Amino acid sequence: MSHTLDGKGAIVTGASRGIGREIAIKLAAQGAQVAVNYPFDREAAAAEEVVNEIRAAGGIAQAVKADVRDIAQIEAMFAEAAEAFGGIDIVVSNAGGDAVVKPVVDVTEAEYDAAMALNARANFFVLRQAARTVRDGGRIVVIASSMTALCYPGSAIYGGAKAAAEHYARVLAKELGPRGVTVNAVSPGFVDTEATRAAGNVEERYEMALRQTPLGRIGEADDIADVVAFVAGSGARWITGQNLRVGGGIV
Ligand code: NAP
Repeated sequence: MSHTLDGKGAIVTGASRGIGREIAIKLAAQGAQVAVNYPFDREAAAAEEVVNEIRAAGGIAQAVKADVRDIAQIEAMFAEAAEAFGGIDIVVSNAGGDAVVKPVVDVTEAEYDAAMALNARANFFVLRQAARTVRDGGRIVVIASSMTALCYPGSAIYGGAKAAAEHYARVLAKELGPRGVTVNAVSPGFVDTEATRAAGNVEERYEMALRQTPLGRIGEADDIADVVAFVAGSGARWITGQNLRVGGGIV
């Protein structure tokens, strides 16, 4: 394994499981020192497991607790990681999801606010802190979703919030370009994670995803992590302000 990210400090939000977990492991395998973010005490053991896996492979990582819906906790997480690693070069704003799937006519104010709080507002303030913190030449990645293009019935609040996050990345790319910092969105298609399975109707949803995916299989967290690691590396130095759709051709 080449260590193309040696000496880089990285933060991955929502890294105790799923796609974020694989991203943290992949960045660390390439030499980055990784802050494995998790939101609540109940996830501490899962985050420590990710850290232990990274350390066992010879990498550097530490778990950092922060609920990214809280700006003070975002700031504290960045400060802790920057101090531990001597600076931050890579930020992956991955925490998200957890939005009800419902026709617009049935969505409540509380459901709308919850979807926006995690998928739009939290992303905005993670990006703001990333912009304030990353060293020149850094990399910022926001995990959006293919749902912004698929527009399935019932996906308005989730897709709308992710569309906002995608937009923040495009604008921030222009603001940070002069510092050599790239900002991109990575939009997964359908990925097999605990969150996907917990959303119910598993058989029906997986079958539909399979039918709509030209490459003919369900995505894995690793498929997304590989692309994020590429975007975080020097090979992607000329890519900024883009939304990379990583879904086996689903959109
Ligand atoms: P997941 O398995 O639910 O993992 C999400 C991670 O984020 C968990 O570690 C979770 O911790 C953490 N998290 C949740 N709320 C948080 C908060 N307020 N602050 C900090 N961390 C928080 O989800 P996933 O399927 O890996 O999805 C990861 C990202 O990819 C999300 O942004 C999702 O919208 C996006 N995405 C996923 C798919 C898919 O098919 N899976 C497709 C497109 C886009 P807890 O366990 O404590 O909640």
